[in-house]
Amino acid sequence: MPHLCVRFHAELQEFFPPQRRGRPVEMAFRCPQTAKHLLEAAGVPHVEIGAVRLGDAAFPLHAVPPAGACLEVFPRTPRERWPADLPSPRFALDGHLGRLASYLRLLGFNTAYRNEVDDADLVAQAVAERRVVLTRDQDLLKRKALTYGYWVRATDPHAQAAEVLERFAIASLARPFTRCPRCNGLLAPVPKAEVLAQLEPLTRRYYDEFYRCQTCGQVYWRGSHYERIAVLVRRWLTDEPLT
Ligand SMILES: [Zn+2]
Repeated sequence: MPHLCVRFHAELQEFFPPQRRGRPVEMAFRCPQTAKHLLEAAGVPHVEIGAVRLGDAAFPLHAVPPAGACLEVFPRTPRERWPADLPSPRFALDGHLGRLASYLRLLGFNTAYRNEVDDADLVAQAVAERRVVLTRDQDLLKRKALTYGYWVRATDPHAQAAEVLERFAIASLARPFTRCPRCNGLLAPVPKAEVLAQLEPLTRRYYDEFYRCQTCGQVYWRGSHYERIAVLVRRWLTDEPLT
């Protein structure tokens, strides 16, 4: 039976259990298949794959590798993970990543999230709005229609936010506290007089600066919850470890 050897580099190793990392994957196949199909069968979704090389030459994902070939497979660079003409990535998160969605919105990134979205709708929205799908479901990322997607490795939401900032190299693009963590709408300053009726007596007394979500109308101010979140944001953007 024809076989193929594949060497996955750098973070693509993370698709394999630790005991299988660091050595080539040997694959046998019955009939000719494209590199994309074979690499996905090995466990790595096409949206995670950057360059593929055979010897000294680039090897296209849609081509059929010759029997006995040894492919070198590299991850996408941070900048290849979202459409080249967009200045900042836009995300669409699957229904299990609600806290990550809030955190990315807090950091100012345009992040679509509905907790009951099904896979087909999520993919359709991502394609239509040119968003990068973030998910913990590797099979979702193997859908043909997707061009941009990323498998979130971490399971803790704080660590997930740090991972997304690092893998997309977008810390410098963050605009903290400009977007509503509840609905993704943009925040704008609002005069205190306009929101007075919505405020608790103590808030009315101690705070003078307010922001309102342009989409859902939620009012925000820099109260005690703000200080807690500001510490988190600072740690994400400066790589300070969480203690
Ligand atoms: Zn809102």
